[in-house]
Amino acid sequence: MTVEQSGMDIRKWMAQADGVMATTYKRTPVVFSRGSGCILWDTEGRSYLDFVAGIAVCNLGHAHPAISKVLCEQSKTLVHVSNLYYTIPQTELAAWLVDHSFADRVFFCNSGAEANEAAIKLARKYFKDKGEPDRYRIISMVQSFHGRTLGTLSATGQDKIKQGFAPILEGFDFVPFNDIQAVREKISASTCAILLEPVQGEGGVRSADPEFLQNIRRLCDETGTLLIFDEIQTGIGRTGKLFAYEHSGVQPDIMTLAKALANGLPIGAMLAKEAVAAAFVPGSHASTFGGTPLVTAAALCVLKTLDQENIIGHCAEVGQYFKERLLELKSRHDSVVDVRGLGLLLGMELNTDGLPLVQACMEKGFVINCVQGNTLRFIPPLIVQKAEIDRLIHCLDGIL
Ligand SMILES: *Cc1c(COP(=O)(O)O)cnc(C)c1O
Repeated sequence: MTVEQSGMDIRKWMAQADGVMATTYKRTPVVFSRGSGCILWDTEGRSYLDFVAGIAVCNLGHAHPAISKVLCEQSKTLVHVSNLYYTIPQTELAAWLVDHSFADRVFFCNSGAEANEAAIKLARKYFKDKGEPDRYRIISMVQSFHGRTLGTLSATGQDKIKQGFAPILEGFDFVPFNDIQAVREKISASTCAILLEPVQGEGGVRSADPEFLQNIRRLCDETGTLLIFDEIQTGIGRTGKLFAYEHSGVQPDIMTLAKALANGLPIGAMLAKEAVAAAFVPGSHASTFGGTPLVTAAALCVLKTLDQENIIGHCAEVGQYFKERLLELKSRHDSVVDVRGLGLLLGMELNTDGLPLVQACMEKGFVINCVQGNTLRFIPPLIVQKAEIDRLIHCLDGIL
């Protein structure tokens, strides 16, 4: 419904939302009502170029016709039946993921946090089954982000996420990102897994050094510790490869996916090697909605479309171009102190508060995002064109 149709002023909509919604979000004063490709429209008909993509979710852009078609058809065929039974879209999606990754098995759930919960449970159970019941601790990184459930916020290396929720889940140790010596000092006979994001997204767009990943893999192999990659933000083409681990060639034992997997429909997935996945037996873990025919049909369509239209190759190319243009801004403006990231997961750190820039961009019709207070994060649909990037760069150049 548009504002015109509702007969209600946009301010009234916002006031009503603020009166009835849980007060968990600080929202920008805009009501979006439609999208197409990289463009969003608000209820007043203003258009915006979207460099957030629902936080690295809508990788194929908004209202992609192939996804709309699959959703339409599948919704008329079968939406949900429960995991007590087999369905074809779920099977095909799992098979596709297994064919295109290091993994042998897939568990479907509905969000990133749930995928990480499954990974944490699997890592613990793997060692319980091996007769090492005290081996349950997980080493996680400072500045990491793994979700908002009690388990995953406990795994997250940022105090602000945990504030007010004590007692949190026990069994997490934190080390500085990219510090192999700290990992060596922290790892012990009670460590079951090391958990990390190949590129920290919420943590400020920081990439893991390839040598760090190689050293972690070696340490895990020497000690029998499991390696878990949280690719919830980095997976599904975002960094210019299907999965970010492909950049370093270092394979995890468990990987979690969510965000872009179904281009905006809620889905999470936990992938694992056979020997590890075997710790889950009937009854170990479950999800009512996990992997419904509707959502998995959409996800399968996302993956096939990425392949058919060479969107990941395009992402790598325009991502490189985007980064070069951001580096030009850095060379021209003292307030830009760093440009980081891979593919179309890019960050530009400022020596000032980033929020006023986000607001100024919004006023000029560009949706961007800011993490850690001072780092602008650019995560557009992977179909973004160089001309659209040029428009944003021009806008940022003026504002800076
Ligand atoms: C978004 C995100 C999560 C949490 O996903 P939700 O679907 O919000 O639960 C976990 N890890 C990473 C790296 C993320 O980017």
